[in-house]
Amino acid sequence: MRVVRLRSTQISRRTRGRWWPPGGRCLRLLPLLCIFIIIAALGILAISEMSLVQRRVVSPVVGGGAASRIMPGRVQHPPQSSHSHQIQTSNTVFKIEPLLRRNAPSVELSAQVAINAVRASFIADIITREGNITWVKEQLTSKQTCQQQPDDCPKVPPKLYGAKNVSSSPLQLSESMLRTLVGPVEMGGKWSPPECSARHSIAIVIPYRDRWEQLLTLLYHLHPLLQRQQLKYRIFLVEQVGNDTFNKGVLMNAGFLTALKYNPAPGVIYHCFVFHDVDMIPEDDRNMYSCPQQPRHMSVAVNELDYKLPYRQLVGGVFAIKTEHFFKVNGYSNLYWGWGGEDDDMGYRVEHVLSAISRPPEWIARYTMIKHKKRKPLAWKVKVKLLRTSWRRYRLDGLNTVQYQLLELKDYPLYTRILIDVGHPPHNIRVLQQEQDEQSKKTD
Ligand code: UDP
Ligand code: MN
Repeated sequence: MRVVRLRSTQISRRTRGRWWPPGGRCLRLLPLLCIFIIIAALGILAISEMSLVQRRVVSPVVGGGAASRIMPGRVQHPPQSSHSHQIQTSNTVFKIEPLLRRNAPSVELSAQVAINAVRASFIADIITREGNITWVKEQLTSKQTCQQQPDDCPKVPPKLYGAKNVSSSPLQLSESMLRTLVGPVEMGGKWSPPECSARHSIAIVIPYRDRWEQLLTLLYHLHPLLQRQQLKYRIFLVEQVGNDTFNKGVLMNAGFLTALKYNPAPGVIYHCFVFHDVDMIPEDDRNMYSCPQQPRHMSVAVNELDYKLPYRQLVGGVFAIKTEHFFKVNGYSNLYWGWGGEDDDMGYRVEHVLSAISRPPEWIARYTMIKHKKRKPLAWKVKVKLLRTSWRRYRLDGLNTVQYQLLELKDYPLYTRILIDVGHPPHNIRVLQQEQDEQSKKTD
């Protein structure tokens, strides 16, 4: 018995000496173990990053616009066009870092600053007008009308048509003819239902340059539709001045920040925005332009895309979002010069920051895109890299860093015009763009 006990004690001591308590051989192996774990973690990270990059490049990147977009779910090879040639031969590397402002104010701070500025302008307005007796009278009467405000408009507007046929050619209209056709719209392109109190007030932002017929066609359809939906609204046309490369993202951000200064009711800012391409004509007035709980992609089914949604992150065309959500995603990226990408970047922002994009059913959210020439796409290299980094970059590129010059702000009968100078594309994007153009000329 004794022998047995001694042995067992010896064995247990030896065992303890090797493995326990810490300080034995195990401790000596610890640094090696740590190094092994770190290498393994880095390996896993690299693999997951590669697959992320692949996934991101797969879906909406290529071509940038409507019909040429490539479906997600398959591994994307460079397109068999001039672009692929360009990718293989061009050695210039596109660097994003120089385009980002490292000292940009935080997204939250810049949102607060923007809202404070709007509030301050309301207060300044009141202070300067207090001495103006007519204005005080107006306010008093408007207060009285406030007290006798009509009931809320019905949840389901009673005068909707449903689906109707729309032509993909622009209408031949003059502006004066249009004015008589769209009903009693106030200067600046605003309207609210006279018979009831609108449940939603919406700012519509249209990025624009040199598409007059398309604009008239859209206004011809949109004003009456919004009126049938009994919404309080104002249409803002954000126009880029000059002939240099178009930048839709900057126009959207500039339009948003400028429209914030307009108040649908005294001291109130617009709660929601609808960003609307000028060539997207709604086919069904049951597709509501109301305030969405989650950001809402409204142009789900477009004739150009065989009335099918090509990929999940698409928010291009017509996109409705609450003001607070637009601040949260830091607006659009300002770095997409030329055709395509800025909308997909917004899709990623929304998915990353707000989790989900909502959509009405395909059979209602139908649009006809007016036929037009395709624009020159943003250099492939630039677009791929921007989209790949979209959700990591969003805090340094958007509303908090947008730069533009406001050249004109004027009320026209059917819209408020915001004329903007967005500046010129940065040097490195220009160089890559030129390289791509030269390559496509050679291969054509
Ligand atoms: N746009 C414009 N003028 C231009 C280029 C673009 O007004 O020269 C605006 C317009 O609102 C248009 C939107 O930007 O609907 C998107 O551009 P485009 O229609 O060329 O792209 P798509 O969506 O057809 O790929
Ligand atoms: Mn278009």
